[in-house]
Amino acid sequence: MYDPKSLKAEDFINHEEIEETLAYAEANKNNLELIDSIIEKAKDRKGLSHRDASVLLACEDESRIKEMYALAEQFKKDFYGNRIVMFAPLYLSNYCVNGCVYCPYHMKNKHICRKKLTQEEVKKEVIALQDMGHKRLAIEAGEDPVNNPIEYILECIDTIYSIKHKNGAIRRVNVNIAATTVENYRKLKEAGIGTYILFQETYHKESYEKLHPTGPKHNYAYHTEAMDRAMEGGIDDVGLGVLFGLELYKYEFAGLLMHAEHLEAVHGVGPHTISVPRIKKADDIDPSAFDNGIDDETFAKICALIRISVPYTGMIISTRESKAVREKVLHLGVSQISGASRTSVGGYAEPEPEEDNSAQFDVSDNRTLDEVVHWLMEMKYIPSFCTACYREGRTGDRFMALCKSKQIQNCCHPNALLTLREYLNDYASEDTKRIGEELIKRELENIPNPAARETCEKRLAMINEGKRDLYF
Ligand code: SF4
Ligand code: SF4
Repeated sequence: MYDPKSLKAEDFINHEEIEETLAYAEANKNNLELIDSIIEKAKDRKGLSHRDASVLLACEDESRIKEMYALAEQFKKDFYGNRIVMFAPLYLSNYCVNGCVYCPYHMKNKHICRKKLTQEEVKKEVIALQDMGHKRLAIEAGEDPVNNPIEYILECIDTIYSIKHKNGAIRRVNVNIAATTVENYRKLKEAGIGTYILFQETYHKESYEKLHPTGPKHNYAYHTEAMDRAMEGGIDDVGLGVLFGLELYKYEFAGLLMHAEHLEAVHGVGPHTISVPRIKKADDIDPSAFDNGIDDETFAKICALIRISVPYTGMIISTRESKAVREKVLHLGVSQISGASRTSVGGYAEPEPEEDNSAQFDVSDNRTLDEVVHWLMEMKYIPSFCTACYREGRTGDRFMALCKSKQIQNCCHPNALLTLREYLNDYASEDTKRIGEELIKRELENIPNPAARETCEKRLAMINEGKRDLYF
């Protein structure tokens, strides 16, 4: 029985409900009256149900799709302004006991180079990331209770936070590790993590079990219910995601929104972020072996509809996507992107020799962080290295309250400028610095509250005098 309040995976991600939703969406895909009424409903900015959103996803009417895109762009501007938060992944270990058929870290892959960073190596990687200008990391590790037990992850988090190199600091560590116990989530919370991220991969149980034939990840319910355990363990900010290409995208889209509805119904707060990875080529993985791949246009439509359906949820896109695709979806609602990523274990401090390939997937956007920052500013976006909410304890519902209070422009906007100022002073090339100066001058005018604007100006001057880590 479908029940968003249930704690059982098969109730809140109910297969029959998804099938009915898809049938309803298909039956109504040309029902322009209904589609118009859903678009109208979306305009009140309270989000859309999985059913309504699925009808919009099924709609093929060009002019309505344009309306959806325009709405997504408007929401993006209203909720996130022109800021884009920057982060980098850091792979700690690719030892893994699971058998995921789409990931080269699966246990049966005997030729991929297995690595696990020592604390000394973590330190070197973090210094290299700080030297680029990164302040926010997402750590990644395979599941292996012997090689990467929770104690190892906790030790790495401690190491990461402890490194202060020149003016650098990692101020928020998000964690993407396998589903675990409430007790372990509590330990992660105590270690001071930001968001706990876990991709569902696919919400389709039968496919899930086939795609994860062996290892603890085979257990669909344990994996799907992980976010509830994370929240029970005190983690307020959780990040959802599916790997598009594994199953039918319409199914995944409905499942994703149902998961968000479930978190809201049970915990009173929806997901902090949603990631939208698409399957990519990797060591022994050929994406064409999966026949549910989606084209760039469908991908853009999914991004736009996520933005409309869950307006307060951040949306993340990685360097799996090319510059061109990233450029397209930035307008439609993406709020966080990675830059200069390495998807191998290590590789920031020293590039990995080709024969030692340990990468999880091939990167499509190979630019440096400076190039990405430059590119964003050329498109009039403000690259933001802000981590203020996490450090002020504005997580979970307190973060959502900030979003909904419309104060975000008086808070995120100046914080974006302050962290960009730090970046320009400490890490940027001359050319990037030049456009950045102009951008800061221009964007100061866009802080609505005059007192906040004045304080921001003062703090920018303090950063120029050598102060760091100032935020609202
Ligand atoms: S997706 Fe994660 S759990 Fe699966 S094989 Fe890769 S690293 Fe292991
Ligand atoms: S102030 Fe909070 S919500 Fe705004 S950019 Fe910074 S961390 Fe994100």
